[in-house]
Amino acid sequence: MVTGARWCGNVGERSFFVTPAAIRGDWAEIDGQVAHQIRAVLRLHPGDIVELLDNSGWVHTARLTEVGKGRVAAEVVGRRRAETEPRVRLELYQALLKGQKMELVLQKGTELGIARFVPVLSERCVSRPGTGEMDRKLERWEAIVREASEQSGRAVLPEVARMESFESACRKAVQSDLGLIAWEGERSGGIAGALRSAGLDEAGHQDRPAGAIASGQRPTVALLIGPEGGFTPDEAALAHEAGLRVVGLGPRILRAETAALVAATLVMCRTGDLGG
Ligand code: SAH
Repeated sequence: MVTGARWCGNVGERSFFVTPAAIRGDWAEIDGQVAHQIRAVLRLHPGDIVELLDNSGWVHTARLTEVGKGRVAAEVVGRRRAETEPRVRLELYQALLKGQKMELVLQKGTELGIARFVPVLSERCVSRPGTGEMDRKLERWEAIVREASEQSGRAVLPEVARMESFESACRKAVQSDLGLIAWEGERSGGIAGALRSAGLDEAGHQDRPAGAIASGQRPTVALLIGPEGGFTPDEAALAHEAGLRVVGLGPRILRAETAALVAATLVMCRTGDLGG
């Protein structure tokens, strides 16, 4: 229990991702954007409590000891294992979507616990950015993921990977413990059945509480979602031949951004990560 410190309200707004080097034993030195946010945006003072996240899965509770221009120091007064990381590591291979839709998937997918976002260029992608534009998108997407992580209390920042071709995405996704492609033409199997047959549904995790698993030990589920124009039958066949399991999301055609979030929700729900 932290004593003698001024609690500053909803800690969710006082959680900050810092580099691992910022935390040395019981002391933290914070600089850059986070120091600016603490000092000039949130106007915090020595004695205030913040939570520092260094991507290790641990949450460091710290009392500010110095709040200066460009430099903030804090004393670590407690640490706990984060409870907010899911039992499975879900990697979303999302075909590029136009404008805000991709940003919606990144923000809501982060809240839902997705660990890695991989933009994919599939045959019917309307959005086909050049290298420069892609770099700018990646920068903006990383900022969206960081903000959503701090807001939702994630302890490990999801990764935003560089764009992959469809073929490369299939090759990489199939290396997961369970690789799935959601295809609108599929009417037989769904995500629940795929997780069950892979032993990854909640029954398969009884002995491992959510959040208590170090990132490296969690099973990985890879999920491909198509663009506004959907996947072509050839792409679905290629994914199947590569070893991905083709799954349906019901009889209606969902918008791509809806499908991504519904599929992620199904994975998290079926692995017991959304509160039972
Ligand atoms: N034209 C609509 C829908 C395109 S489908 C739009 O503008 O978004 C986009 C992707 O969502 C598909 O490639 C598939 O990955 C997924 N999807 C949508 N409905 C689905 C369903 N009923 N079953 C499986 N996947 C679905």
